[in-house]
Amino acid sequence: MTTAQQKRTADELKVLAEQAGRDLEDASALEVLQWAVDTFGRAFCVTSSMEDAVVAHLASRVRTGGAPVDVIFLDTGYHFPETIGTRDAVEAVMDVNVITLTPRQTVAEQDAQYGPKLHDRDPDLCCRLRKVQPLEEGLENYQAWATGLRRDESPTRANTPVVGWDEKRRKVKISPIARWTQDDVDAYVAEHGVLTNPLLTDGYASVGCAPCTRRVLAGEDARAGRWAGRAKTECGLHG
Ligand code: SF4
Repeated sequence: MTTAQQKRTADELKVLAEQAGRDLEDASALEVLQWAVDTFGRAFCVTSSMEDAVVAHLASRVRTGGAPVDVIFLDTGYHFPETIGTRDAVEAVMDVNVITLTPRQTVAEQDAQYGPKLHDRDPDLCCRLRKVQPLEEGLENYQAWATGLRRDESPTRANTPVVGWDEKRRKVKISPIARWTQDDVDAYVAEHGVLTNPLLTDGYASVGCAPCTRRVLAGEDARAGRWAGRAKTECGLHG
């Protein structure tokens, strides 16, 4: 990290994010990621749910001038084996630095304290313990993080900025493929032979933890299979 990167205050980061959000609205995903690496250096990371590895693949293509970009994966302990396999494959074949974050408690320890199947009784608490808290701790040393959020995924994501200010974490939040459609993702995957989670070809349009994810029906939006039958639509990472 350069001295300039170390010295940025949260207020400076916020101004920088808002300006970049305007300047980079029409930039390509690669241009956005290159800007992020040039601006934040090692204080920038990508997060991936390993639903697909599109943003990780894009990150592997930027010029870093040194170590590859950190790609953070949250292992909640509830993932499908296919998701863990996708993480392992990304680690094996892509020029990125995969970092796996885990919650403070194992599933067994959580069950002992809160009772089994907390995800059925209080999914917000379960997500807080197994996703939100580990990510907040894992992001401590970064000034900026990138996600694979897209505006077309659901109404709650329709206004996702390409670069914005994450007020909750006081960090720059970058969504390089915010403007992409599912067709754009499919085209990129086909063109570059990008790894995708095998569940995406097995009826799942969005892949989260196994207890809270089901296949989608024809005509449903991509995230309809997440916390189906509940009011919950987001895990709290992006709220
Ligand atoms: S998605 Fe479900 S299992 Fe995963 S952390 Fe949230 S509530 Fe728990």
